[in-house]
Amino acid sequence: MEDSYRHKGLRKILVEEIRNKGITDEKVLKAIANIPRHLFLHDMFVKFAYADQAFQIGAGQTISQPYTVAFQTEHLQIKKGDKVLEIGTGSGYQTAVLLECGAKVFTIERQKLLSDKVKKFLPELGYSPNFFYGDGFKGLPAYAPFDKILVTCGAPFIPEMLLDQLKPGGIMMIPVGEGDVQEMTKISKSIDGQLDTKKLGQFRFVPMLGEKEWKQ
Ligand code: SAH
Repeated sequence: MEDSYRHKGLRKILVEEIRNKGITDEKVLKAIANIPRHLFLHDMFVKFAYADQAFQIGAGQTISQPYTVAFQTEHLQIKKGDKVLEIGTGSGYQTAVLLECGAKVFTIERQKLLSDKVKKFLPELGYSPNFFYGDGFKGLPAYAPFDKILVTCGAPFIPEMLLDQLKPGGIMMIPVGEGDVQEMTKISKSIDGQLDTKKLGQFRFVPMLGEKEWKQ
């Protein structure tokens, strides 16, 4: 698992590209500069690791585009020690970004194959979130409430159970939409429990699938 000067140099260029696209949170940019994204892709695809694009990671799933990861993370305004629930562990790249920003991460993946793989891989890089194999629509009621909730797959609607698990004063980022394109949605819960919803533009994610769809 080599991380060479060439890889580090490519990451610097990627960070500048993302900065030019409008990301300003230095914590997030530093996380992207630190994480060896090439190790999250198959060896064969190393040359794509530092392009600002999503990529296939097997089992029909993708590692999100670095800009998208940065955009969602920046909007969550992560503070050291924040308890964050992530839906869709996938490759674990977004999980690593949250950890680098100082969050305590609880991450759920519904595909056994990916879940098993990432459980082994992330700790090898020194990243240790709390891993769960299960259905993100349900969240993790036993560990709630969370300061922040991050959904990294396209949700057909905003799951009520996730809203319930968001702390007053908390923020949830969730791409909402049933087709190929979703509307990035930021939900802020006020101290007295009021929800404020903002739409932040269109993004593309793999679909968030419910239990019925994936047990078939
Ligand atoms: N954050 C990931 C992106 C993964 S793509 C990364 O940085 O690599 C979205 C992931 O969400 C896929 O792995 C998919 O299997 C998972 N997913 C889809 N529906 C889900 C659900 N209901 N619960 C948990 N994970 C789900």
